[in-house]
Amino acid sequence: MSAPPAREYFAVVIAAPSGAGKRTVLERVRARESEIAWAVSATTRPPRPGETEGKDYYFLSRAAFEEGVAAGRFVEWAEVHGNLYGTLKSEIDRCRETEKDVLLELDVQGMRSLRRLGHDVVGVFIVPPSMEELERRLRGRGTDSEDVIALRLQNARAEMAARGEFDYIVVNDVVDRAAEDVIAILRAERLRARRQRLSG
Ligand code: 5GP
Repeated sequence: MSAPPAREYFAVVIAAPSGAGKRTVLERVRARESEIAWAVSATTRPPRPGETEGKDYYFLSRAAFEEGVAAGRFVEWAEVHGNLYGTLKSEIDRCRETEKDVLLELDVQGMRSLRRLGHDVVGVFIVPPSMEELERRLRGRGTDSEDVIALRLQNARAEMAARGEFDYIVVNDVVDRAAEDVIAILRAERLRARRQRLSG
């Protein structure tokens, strides 16, 4: 897909170190926010309990994912925690057909790729109140092995270091407050885009 003209729409990228509670916050946002199209990523990670194909992710085998990469079907992709994750061009097209702005849950690499491609990106980074709290949440989830937790913690530290690349930082201390913050950001950005359309 070629880069869209500036300000035709914006792509909100929501990133967070794993364990920051991004999923919980975004579930609350999703329940109250209908004016944005949610892009579903593809991944080679196996589904966690309760995750559904086509809603949480498109779950692909590594072979199918790699074939998609070779065929140029991804806008961006990255290896995170030993699994492949990416955004299919067809998914962005599907979202754009709704004529809404698009929300993507990516990591910092994904945000950089979208920016490089010329998409008008609004970056939102959700952070835990502290690194200690992050570790506690990762262990409490009970879905990952010690090795995976150690890897996720190491990645979290690296991801936290990239927070300066985001336009907004939302602290997930109280989930409802964090969800309110994300909704406020979406609203403000929509108004800003409208102003630019009106004055452009
Ligand atoms: P999880 O396995 O916990 O669902 O996600 C692990 C990480 O992969 C998260 O940081 C998440 O934001 C990132 N991720 C999910 N989808 C994509 C994607 O399409 N592209 C990229 N670059 N990262 C993604």
